[in-house]
Amino acid sequence: MTRNFLPFLLIAFTIFFSCNKNKSVISKTENEETYVIKNVNIIPMTENNEVIENATVVIHNKKIHSINDTIPTEAKTIDGTGKWLIPGLIDMHVHTNADLNFRENKPTQSATFFMDTQDVMTTHVANGVTTIFDLGARVEHFGQRNEIAKGKVIGPRMALARLINGGNGRGSVHTASDARQAVRSAKEEGYNFIKVYSSLNIETFNATVDEAKKQGLNVVGHIPDVFKGQTEKVFVRHFGLVAHAEEFSKQIRNQEKTEKDAKAFAQMSKDNDTWLIPNLIAIVKIRDQVQSLDSIRSMKSLKYVHPLLRDKWLNSNNYNKHSSTEFINYLDSLITFHKQMVVAFKDAGVPMVVGTDAGVSGVVTGFALHDEMQLLSEAGLTNEEVLVSATRLPAEWLEINELVGTVKEGKFADLVLLDANPLENIENTRKISGVFVNGTWLDKEQIDKMLSDLADWNAKNIDNFKWSKRREY
Ligand SMILES: [Zn+2]
Repeated sequence: MTRNFLPFLLIAFTIFFSCNKNKSVISKTENEETYVIKNVNIIPMTENNEVIENATVVIHNKKIHSINDTIPTEAKTIDGTGKWLIPGLIDMHVHTNADLNFRENKPTQSATFFMDTQDVMTTHVANGVTTIFDLGARVEHFGQRNEIAKGKVIGPRMALARLINGGNGRGSVHTASDARQAVRSAKEEGYNFIKVYSSLNIETFNATVDEAKKQGLNVVGHIPDVFKGQTEKVFVRHFGLVAHAEEFSKQIRNQEKTEKDAKAFAQMSKDNDTWLIPNLIAIVKIRDQVQSLDSIRSMKSLKYVHPLLRDKWLNSNNYNKHSSTEFINYLDSLITFHKQMVVAFKDAGVPMVVGTDAGVSGVVTGFALHDEMQLLSEAGLTNEEVLVSATRLPAEWLEINELVGTVKEGKFADLVLLDANPLENIENTRKISGVFVNGTWLDKEQIDKMLSDLADWNAKNIDNFKWSKRREY
């Protein structure tokens, strides 16, 4: 039942506000600066992933110019002594806040509620997240991507998926012909990915995936409800990535979920070359808030959440409203089963990629990625496997592996410098000393400043936004 709230949540999560803070604008020249990281231990996340100790990395013109080669004279030095360098992290399942129209859509009507794009992106880059995959993208997200490209905002690379659904919602598809047209329109609008959703029927699902294949768009998404009891039928060629482990557990919602089920799902995925975003953190956060809203109140990262969303999470929380022992037990059973699924998928050799569903209440962009990695490690992935799932593999699935995903000469400088070795303890990914985002260096001091500016603004405006009054905004 948890995902039944999603359409509502998606709207909730796309809420913002414009503020006229003076944001630091990266000038072109600054971005072309040359940097050298000295004496650093590189964890390249390439296939063999041999750690390169005490290395020298030169970053020039946004790219990794050289590793252990000559140092240009005018390079800015970053001391990497005792530190560890990994590729920028990739969150494969986010819902990004963006400008929104809360009212009636009349001719010439703009959005009615605006959000500062830097505020939306700060928690990503502060946490070393340099690429995100938005699974409910709208035209506003193209605008955000352009702001980042123009250097007005320091933010991650954005891959955008267009959602296609059946049912009675706005823009839903009812026939194979509708579905094919929706895919062609998405391509025309500039999307590179299609997200299939829960209310498609078998005919519209198949047509969506088939047309996406024809149009060269990769497909991620839910397993539509109609496949319950016949899950194997969803595995048609080109259905490339399942958006959460929960998609599988929903297929057997009222049954006891066993290791045998996990193994069967893993085999079906393997046979069809369909990858999985386990997305463990969202259900854990949902379970916690169903139990008590104190779990939200006590979150250290809550201060980075926009006041309107904060008010929604605390005072209009639909999960908590439906609290019951039965619901908590159900969510607990999902948490257990999803860990079993991670093991089964690993054993079957199905590639898994890290995604958080950031935007769902309690799941804070950027911070949640580290929680997810920790949960994957607890479920049974090695620390190295977790890191592969957050770097090289998602870059491969998104088909940007020529650009990012490993620490290699010629790739874009999306890098995270850590104070401790994440291969020893996955929690060390939280010990961030600095981040390169597309060649722009943010040291610890700058990151802390960006975060404290965001927290200050949120604190100042905490009483100015009420979820119940959103239609007035
Ligand atoms: Zn989602």
